[in-house]
Parts: sequence; structure tokens; C-alpha cells
Amino acid sequence: MSLADFQVVVGLEVHAQLLTQTKIFSPVSTTFGAEPNASTHPVCLGMPGTLPVLNEAVVELAVRAGLALGCEIRARSVWSRKHYFYPDSPKGYQITQYDQPICEHGRVGEVRIRRIHMEEDAGKSVHDADGTRSLVDLNRAGTPLLEIVSEPDLRSADDAVEYLKALREILMAVGVNDGNLEEGSFRCDANVSVMKKGASELGTRCELKNLNSFRFIKQAIEVEAARQVELLEGGKAVVQETRLFDPDRGETRAMRSKEDAHDYRYFPDPDLPPVVVSPSLLERVRSALPELPAAKRERYAAELKLSPYDAGLLSGAWSQLFEATLKAYGGEAKKVANWIIGEVSRLQNEVSEPSKLTPELLAALLKAVDAGRISANAGKDVLGEVYRSGRGVDEVIAAKGLEQVSDVAAIEAAVDAVIAQSPSEAASFKAGKTALLGFFVGKVMKAMKGKANPKVVNELVAKKLG
Ligand code: ADP
Ligand code: MG
Repeated sequence: MSLADFQVVVGLEVHAQLLTQTKIFSPVSTTFGAEPNASTHPVCLGMPGTLPVLNEAVVELAVRAGLALGCEIRARSVWSRKHYFYPDSPKGYQITQYDQPICEHGRVGEVRIRRIHMEEDAGKSVHDADGTRSLVDLNRAGTPLLEIVSEPDLRSADDAVEYLKALREILMAVGVNDGNLEEGSFRCDANVSVMKKGASELGTRCELKNLNSFRFIKQAIEVEAARQVELLEGGKAVVQETRLFDPDRGETRAMRSKEDAHDYRYFPDPDLPPVVVSPSLLERVRSALPELPAAKRERYAAELKLSPYDAGLLSGAWSQLFEATLKAYGGEAKKVANWIIGEVSRLQNEVSEPSKLTPELLAALLKAVDAGRISANAGKDVLGEVYRSGRGVDEVIAAKGLEQVSDVAAIEAAVDAVIAQSPSEAASFKAGKTALLGFFVGKVMKAMKGKANPKVVNELVAKKLG
């Protein structure tokens, strides 16, 4: 037996921080990166005698996410306490939803979403490198989260990554989450099991933590599945537990045995009334829902005649830039698509500072290239500068001296001069050796320091000699 005799099964639990201004139960900012413990409040510090007050925006965003993911929205959902002790959770319990979550039964493509519930995030423990001291930062405590739980419908690490990318794109498109894996605002735990191919019962699963990039998620699932197969092949059993992925060593390590629900002593939180989603709230959120990535993808392919590949790339985070540029430009959608997918995304990977590019600037650049004022190559150069500085396209073209000469009289003079200097080549050309066109064009371009519009040069040389 080998890995190929087994089927990998994955179910994902995603924690997505909601883009609210303030925390879920206290009126302090959720801004990332503040001084440790600067963004705290007696409620999120767990001070005795304080009472949580629900931030209404959380419910609205949860409903928005639920609708975007095709869920049923529960009209009356309940807050529960989930008890555990950890220094980053000073109350000794997490306020979450348990048996009556706000959303259920959604899907992302073919993958079923079991439930989505609202909860508060915990703080963070910060450990000194030498292991002598641990400090607690409670800025994150009380940040609103959605926990989005899939059914075990995924069948490979690649499946899992594809699902996560699609989910992330949808949450970002509806303005619920910023999709930042690195900062931890979009996090995922992966439940992984293996079973013999064709088996009807799922195997015992392990839950993997600490997966903060798509690359690690894929790697962690693959090495965990291989570990489980090896155990089973050796006649051993997989033990259900929580495991930590160590990206440096490329392995998963046991972290703790799996808790059962009863370990948490869940009960309804007496401090908070049930969450009521009225029909009017539901309708208001539904009618304000923007076009979702899947619908965009179809529209780009059908109406704008983009390839499925281009439409897929542009229907996510690039869609705003793409659509606004196309509108300001008024030309071919395919051209806008090519510049964004090629040059703009390359710059995004290459430049660490945030982009200063606007749809108006990109449209102006495309028009300058179309009009032959600059070559496509010069356009890339100009785009790089505009992307970094936000300076105007005309200004950058002028500053870099990239303007092409399209002035027919000036080019004509250069063409005449070149022909006069090369009488024998001119005669050969006229005798039928048209391959010499490049020779003349090259000489004219050189005489004009590379700034002549090559299209005009070609036309004039051919006309004069032909
Ligand atoms: P619990 O309630 O104990 O946390 P659940 O059965 O609700 O466990 O599942 C939690 C997550 O684990 C879900 O995302 C689910 O899809 C996934 N999961 C459950 N069983 C398996 C399995 N055998 N293999 C892979 N994933 C699984
Ligand atoms: Mg949870």
C-alpha cells in the first residue's frame, strides 16, 4: 500500500476578523499594530462587574457574509460561553455561538459550509526569544470574528487552498474581511484525515494550527496526510489531536489532545440577549450586496469577452481597478486586462510601498500608448514611476524624455537623409530585396535617438522606397 491507496479528507475552520471600527463588545478600536495593550477597555480586559454590549455592525457583517456564502440566516441566534483558561483570555471564557449560530448551510462552489458563527478573538501571548518571559498583549482581545466551518468535503491540499482563496475573495468583495493571512486577520485551522480509497467511513482526523500562508497550508496538509498514511500502514492508529505545523522543519507536532465539547462547559451567556435578525435588516443587507466574484467572472467572460483565465484573475481584488480603468479609458477590455495582469501585478509584488496608481492614471497611460506618444516598452517604465509616485502620466513622460516623435515631417527628413546615405542598399531594396526594410528603419531610429514612432517610420520608409 502507498499514499496512492488513500484518500485525503480535509475540513476547514476559518477565522475571519470583521472590518468593524470597534470591538465586538466594547467601544475601543480594532486597529492592528497599536502599542501593546493600548487598545483595551475594561470589558475586553475581563474586569469583574463589566458587561458586554454588542456592536451592531458585527451582526450586519455576519449577515452580509452569510448571504454572500448562500447561507440560511437564523432569525434568533444565541451567545454562549466557551470556557478555557489561557492568559490571553482574561475572562476565563470566550463569548461565541454554539448550538444556534447565526448562519448555516452555505456553500463555496461545491464545498458545503456547515455553519458560520460570531465570536470574540483572544489576545496574544508574546514569548521572549530566550524563553524566560511571556507577556500578554490584549489589543486583539474582543476583535470580532466569524468562524466559518466547512463540511469535510475537500479531497486534497490543493482543493483546500482553492476553497480558501475563493472564500477569502468573497469575504473581501463584500467588505467583511481584509484577507490578510500574514497579520492573522484571515486564519485557518485544517482538519485532516485519510481513508482507504473507496471506504465509506471517514478516518480519524487531526486539527492543524499555525497556518498563516497558502503555501504553509498546502505543505502542512500534505505532510500530515503522509504521516497518517505511514501510521496506518504500520498497523498503528491515528490519534485525534491538535497538531502544530512547524514550517522550518516541514513537519507537524502534537500540541494537545483534542478537547470535546463537554470540556468547554458551554452554556448560554446570561449577559447578552439573543441576536435578532429582523426581516427588514435581512432585506436591507441583501439589497446592498455587491456583485460577487463568481457573477463578475461570468460577466467579464460574456460581455467583455475576456478569457476565463483573465476573468478569474480580475474578478477578485483587481476588479475595482479593472472596471474603473476600463470606464475612464473607453478602449478594449483585453488591453486593460493585459496591463493589470502583467505589469500592475508585477509591480505589486515588487514594490513594498502601497500603490499610488489610480484608474485615471492607468487609463491615461493606456491612451498615451494607443496614441503612439510612447512605445509599449516606455509605457512599462512610465507605469513603474506612476505606480510608486502617483505623478501624472504626462509629467513622467516629459521628465523621462520618452515622448515618441510622430511628427511626420521630422521623421520624413530623417528617412530622406538615411536613404541618401545608403544609395546601394536603396537600389537593392527597389530591386526587390525588401528584407532591407529593417536596415533602414534601424538607421532612422538611431538617427532619432530611438524616439521616433516605429509605426510611422516603417510606413515612411516603405513609401519612399516602394
Ligand atoms: P467538532 O465539533 O468536534 O469540532 P466537527 O465534526 O464539528 O468537530 O468538525 C470540525 C471540522 O472538522 C469541520 O470543518 C469538519 O469538516 C472537519 N472534519 C470533521 N471530521 C473530519 C474528518 N474525518 N476528516 C477531515 N475533516 C473532518
Ligand atoms: Mg471557535
